Amino acid sequence: MDPRTDPPTPAAPSAERHAQRTLLALSPAELVALFTGLGAQPFHARIARENVLRKGLLDWNAMTSLPATLRAELERELPILAGREAARSTAADRTTKLLLEFSRQAGRAAAVETVHMPSLALEHESDERGGATLCVSTQAGCPIGCPFCASGQLGLARNLASHEILEQYVRGRALGPLARSVVMGMGEPLLNYANLAVALDAVHDEMGLGSRRVTVSTVGFPDRLRKLAPGRPRFQLAISLHTPDQEQRDELVPAMRGVPIEEVLAAGDDWFHETGREVTYEYVLLRGVNDSAGHARRLADRLRGRRASVNLIPYNPVSESPYRRPDAAAVEAFRRTLLEARIVATVRWSRGVESDAACGQLRLRGAR
Ligand code: SAH
Repeated sequence: MDPRTDPPTPAAPSAERHAQRTLLALSPAELVALFTGLGAQPFHARIARENVLRKGLLDWNAMTSLPATLRAELERELPILAGREAARSTAADRTTKLLLEFSRQAGRAAAVETVHMPSLALEHESDERGGATLCVSTQAGCPIGCPFCASGQLGLARNLASHEILEQYVRGRALGPLARSVVMGMGEPLLNYANLAVALDAVHDEMGLGSRRVTVSTVGFPDRLRKLAPGRPRFQLAISLHTPDQEQRDELVPAMRGVPIEEVLAAGDDWFHETGREVTYEYVLLRGVNDSAGHARRLADRLRGRRASVNLIPYNPVSESPYRRPDAAAVEAFRRTLLEARIVATVRWSRGVESDAACGQLRLRGAR
């Protein structure tokens, strides 16, 4: 598939909903209709959605603000969620990773990961509200094909429906209050944007997670970014750059082959001018591949003078991958070169690495 052309039209919402009638798959208006059909009041429907989205209640019986007879009826009539928790692993730092399975759509089942990372007491980047950061997937598998990424190795199974994206937020909220979310799980968000936007609207309006607390990470299709920016999207933008060198980016981000790095950066500049929000460039550090002093200098040359910052992500080992993580000194040297060019650079060591919580690993293990 050529990701520069438009992605397949997402399933019409009504078709999607008839496949599975759940609380999250119904629009608020449809939920009211269903409730009044059961003899309940419209405000009962609002309470139900609020219980699920704000409080993360996953069980009708826990919703004591609804009449008991209605709860019993809903228990029979309307599942809250569509997916199944197929696996869960919790690391020593309390990072919890869920493997979720969703049923077939157009013949395709979907297994995705969602990661809940409670803030650490001493972590400054963590939120003053003390909630967790949730990492969310937008596609089952991924069509981009980055050779260092676990999701890219399996190809794309299918886009997630908007309620399947929202369900990850609800299940995450059930594990504890959310302070932030990063759309950095499986998949390329801009290739399933229509569904993601519906989910993010609910996250903003109904879960109360403000748009500065949601970061969407993309390989940065320039045309798509230019179309989205005027709509004042409800998220912070992160673009996966990974190298200052065109030939190398064509290898590390195969779906972007033929898209000049300068065009990606220009789209990032336009994003800032249009939205007033700075772009973060992500850079996965791979030992001996893109972590040299020359790479750091050339990256600094590309970014000098731009309103943007860099997140350096030391590579997270994926089983059977030939890549390795640089040592801390090499990471620090890379960062210093950027800082000397007045480019704000932060190192993001990943969480939960010891218990299979590295990106994509639960699903990769399941697939083997
Ligand atoms: N398709 C989007 C979201 C992918 S995941 C994108 O490419 O931005 C979010 C980030 O994690 C991306 O920057 C991706 O390159 C990075 N990543 C993937 N696998 C990784 C690994 N094994 N170690 C460290 N970072 C990884």
